[in-house]
Amino acid sequence: MTLTETLRRRLDERRAQNLYRQLKTLDAAPGPRAIVDGRALLTFSSNDYLGLATHPDVIAAQQSGASLGAGTTASHLVNGHLRIHQQLQDTIADVTGREAALVFSSGYMANIGTICALVGRGDNIISDRLNHASLIDGARLSSAASLRFPHNDLDGLERQLERAAQNGGNTLVAVDGVYSMDGDLAPLAQMAELCRKHNAWLMVDEAHGFGTMGGLVGSEQFPLAGSIAAAGLTQDEVPVMMGTLGKAAGNAGAFVAGSRELIDFLVQFARPYIYTTGMPPAVAAGCLVAIDVMQREPERRVRLGRNIEFFRARAAGLELPLAQSASAIQPLLLGCEKKVVTVAAELQERGFLVGAIRPPTVPAGTARLRITLSANHSEAQIEQLLVALAESLRTFPAVTS
Ligand SMILES: *Cc1c(COP(=O)(O)O)cnc(C)c1O
Repeated sequence: MTLTETLRRRLDERRAQNLYRQLKTLDAAPGPRAIVDGRALLTFSSNDYLGLATHPDVIAAQQSGASLGAGTTASHLVNGHLRIHQQLQDTIADVTGREAALVFSSGYMANIGTICALVGRGDNIISDRLNHASLIDGARLSSAASLRFPHNDLDGLERQLERAAQNGGNTLVAVDGVYSMDGDLAPLAQMAELCRKHNAWLMVDEAHGFGTMGGLVGSEQFPLAGSIAAAGLTQDEVPVMMGTLGKAAGNAGAFVAGSRELIDFLVQFARPYIYTTGMPPAVAAGCLVAIDVMQREPERRVRLGRNIEFFRARAAGLELPLAQSASAIQPLLLGCEKKVVTVAAELQERGFLVGAIRPPTVPAGTARLRITLSANHSEAQIEQLLVALAESLRTFPAVTS
């Protein structure tokens, strides 16, 4: 068979399984309102939790940041590290309460680069089964023994820590702080305690925690520092913090924050940091202002929190299949791929964009609508979505579910 024939056959299989994915082309800025195929839709699928992707101050900073050069023209270690990148790294270290930070071009690269730099052959990497694909790919690429435990299962984690101790070598435990498809939090305080007891290093992915939550660590408030800070944990307890700038910061790129030694080590050994062109200076300029707005306008986090509560209360009233999530990510587990695809298409007809999440992004049998809330949604908009959802679910033929 030719390549094209082979691929066509595989794509046909994918369609038959209701797993085929299609790009949606947007014609306007991805705020709560988007224009898709010429139609205005209300989006409940973006990760722009605080509405910073369209914040005028962020956009202005990014536009003027472009005057530093459209691109960095080289990797960070060659001549692609500008003062604005250093400012961004220092600011991130400040707001996360860590000694230092390093920016990466994306969260995917940050996770792969960090895991592969920290563990290798003869070491262990322990992951939650529902970890983000980038953590899983990092574990695969690292050549370390890869051990997994059931989602948020502390006994399962301890069993794998014991196995890792028998294997010998260093052990890295990597988890999402906020699960990207479930919205629930990892029990970080207990995990940190287990890691301390078994001499393992804890790495937490704050892709969805950074900017949306935080808390008191020691005697200092870190309102942006994610689920690690919400659990009151220090840099010693969670030595590796990763966060992204493409979600609550509304921009692009990512960071790892921790001790000076960790950051220095990553500069030496994280290949996806070393062998790629530096972050465009305009992005760094936009991110700096986005973090400033996060600090200056705490009411955005308050509004997000209120929207989450409103959504959950109204969805419970409509008897929708809510998950255990207190975060901006509110999945409705429908199970069947066909149902998810049909309901998402019907919602789009009615003017709403929600994510239709299917395997392999989530385990088989757990297909879901992934609804994400933003500070920029109004209660009226959330109410409209919920009414449309309840109607679409009611009219979905029971026989196919
Ligand atoms: C989105 C996401 C990433 C990847 O970040 P990008 O900057 O989009 O590459 C990593 N981890 C989690 C949990 C995510 O949700």
